[in-house]
Amino acid sequence: MTDQRSDYTIGVGVLKTLGLAFRHFIQTYLDDFRRWGKRYKTPEGIAYRASKDVKGIFTVQYPEEKIPVPEEFRFIPFLVFEEKDGVKEYRCTSCGICAKVCPPQCIWIVRSTDPNTGRPIPDPAEFYIDTDICMNCGLCAEYCPFDAIKMDHDYELAVYDRKYNVFDKEKLGKPVSYYEAIRPINYQREENARLEAEAQRATRKTHA
Ligand code: SF4
Ligand code: SF4
Repeated sequence: MTDQRSDYTIGVGVLKTLGLAFRHFIQTYLDDFRRWGKRYKTPEGIAYRASKDVKGIFTVQYPEEKIPVPEEFRFIPFLVFEEKDGVKEYRCTSCGICAKVCPPQCIWIVRSTDPNTGRPIPDPAEFYIDTDICMNCGLCAEYCPFDAIKMDHDYELAVYDRKYNVFDKEKLGKPVSYYEAIRPINYQREENARLEAEAQRATRKTHA
């Protein structure tokens, strides 16, 4: 009796799944007619297919078409720098936390030292990521205390030679304006937190 009931439940499940697939199949053609000439290869069509309202099944005609990635999409990390009078000022202090937390250990950092005192300077002399090994987990960006390393959206990095996949500091560096453009919500949240912290510091100084 129990076996019969479970067979029945499985049968109903299979039919429901097939029905869903069939509905998507039909919706594809209905949507094609409804949006004739606008569903593919138009900005409107791309925006529609990237939205939650899309109906039916569709193929992205890559590389002619690209569906925009969401803000939290992660590919290879990049190093954020500020531009002051044409000079790149990397936020990275070479603290090494990202290299420590990186699960496949694909980050290498060489610290700078003051040539006179031999003491470390909070600026990496060299910074490498082996992007073939990077598994895009985003832990480096999560743990960086200086918002100096962030996850990029650029996924078109195919090359013929593996030697190009070890990115150095120059190749990893991107301006803060780029970070703001690809991750506006994250950027704004961090800026608000920074401004708030500055205001609190100023208040503490006034009362000291
Ligand atoms: S990117 Fe961040 S965590 Fe990594 S060394 Fe630089 S400051 Fe430290
Ligand atoms: S994204 Fe993950 S694997 Fe890639 S460098 Fe950062 S911590 Fe390492």
